[in-house]
Amino acid sequence: MKFDIVIIGGGIIGSAAAYFLAKDGRAGEVAVVEPDPTYTIATTPQGAGGVRQLFSVPENIAMSQFSLGFYESFDAEMTLPDYQPDIGFRRQGYLFVVGEGGAATLAANHDRQTTMGARAELMDVAALRNRFPSLGLDDVALGCYSPDDGWIDPYSALQGFRRNAEHHGVTYIRSRVTSLDVKGRTVRAATLDDGQTIEGGFFLNTAGPWCTEIAAMIDADLPIKPMCRAQHYWLCDSDVEPLPLVKDESGMFFRPEGAGFAGGCPTFDIEPGFVQDVDRGFFANYFEETVWPLIANRVPKFESIRLERTWGGHYAQNLFDGNMIIGRFSSRIDNIVTACGFSGHGIMHAPAVGRALRELVLEGGYQTLDLSAFGIERVWQDTPYAESGIK
Ligand SMILES: Cc1cc2nc3c(=O)[nH]c(=O)nc-3n(C[C@H](O)[C@H](O)[C@H](O)COP(=O)(O)OP(=O)(O)OC[C@H]3O[C@@H](n4cnc5c(N)ncnc54)[C@H](O)[C@@H]3O)c2cc1C
Repeated sequence: MKFDIVIIGGGIIGSAAAYFLAKDGRAGEVAVVEPDPTYTIATTPQGAGGVRQLFSVPENIAMSQFSLGFYESFDAEMTLPDYQPDIGFRRQGYLFVVGEGGAATLAANHDRQTTMGARAELMDVAALRNRFPSLGLDDVALGCYSPDDGWIDPYSALQGFRRNAEHHGVTYIRSRVTSLDVKGRTVRAATLDDGQTIEGGFFLNTAGPWCTEIAAMIDADLPIKPMCRAQHYWLCDSDVEPLPLVKDESGMFFRPEGAGFAGGCPTFDIEPGFVQDVDRGFFANYFEETVWPLIANRVPKFESIRLERTWGGHYAQNLFDGNMIIGRFSSRIDNIVTACGFSGHGIMHAPAVGRALRELVLEGGYQTLDLSAFGIERVWQDTPYAESGIK
């Protein structure tokens, strides 16, 4: 088999790249190698689907702004003769709340967000109490509310990208890349787990938390590890006004979902790496001992809830600075790029990243939004480019 472009990993990032590459017909023959069409262990379906402009790094704000517009029109734009997407885009807002110590950073970030066109609003405790009476605010000094943000169903968005990529001629190959054949400065071919070989002109490493395995195939290092993250779904009998996605400095977040709420809180007590049995092991206790007190502190009515479900998976955490790495990642090889290490932001940034990967591969550089600050060079030069405030 021979393709112009071979994408390794067909989660939301690989499939968004495939869609953007193929849609105007200039990319030639494109293949996505993806072992699991059901995406049982991929990160994407496990995500909360939040899309927000509440960042400090300008490129993150700009990517989310592109994505919000893209996701808003996704269902209409991605409709095919035999396929009607429904990604459940809901513009119900984001709210960050912080204590005294986090107020200056929240305000500085708000300045940047609004300068860049976000309709975000700083709210003191009285304003928060008035707008969201269910919130517990004893430990809060300031909030930042961004009403245009929201959330989507990540699995449906992934399927929408994939179906449209296939519609534009992309071939999905159900297999796993096990090695890469390098000649000089070029990856020539990928070997699959059934022994087949795919020759390619250009390769993309979009293998999510498995991206380091692909990097190792060309003797490259990425400062990324799989981090196990769980989410929980609960019902609350008491009436709670329509809330945005709420997040605070503990990392605790939740948002309305169906008749209840979905949310959680990352823990750094688990060593980076793949953890089996996410549902029944550690996280059942973790909800009881850590997550529940945090959500009940934020919404006192959550003291009385019914936990319905716990699930989870792994995301690719960039241990260096928590932001993605995009572009070339080996100084010795010219025809392979990556987009990885999203550390919890890959769903909201997938449209902008898919567009950026298309520009890198077909145009040789960024055309719309310059993402060169997220290049691997910052790792090599030890100059982190991190978010400040709530991550
Ligand atoms: C609990 C939780 C909550 C989250 N909440 C949010 C949120 O609110 N907003 C947000 O934007 N993001 C969120 N995220 C993060 C988001 O889900 C990820 O950043 C995003 O899904 C990453 O997509 P991906 O395509 O890079 O990875 P994946 O979806 O993991 O896709 C990678 C694919 O590579 C394939 N693969 C692996 N090895 C190989 C190989 N050798 N050959 C070929 N293919 C291979 C895998 O099968 C997989 O399908 C959350 C994540 C979690 C876990």
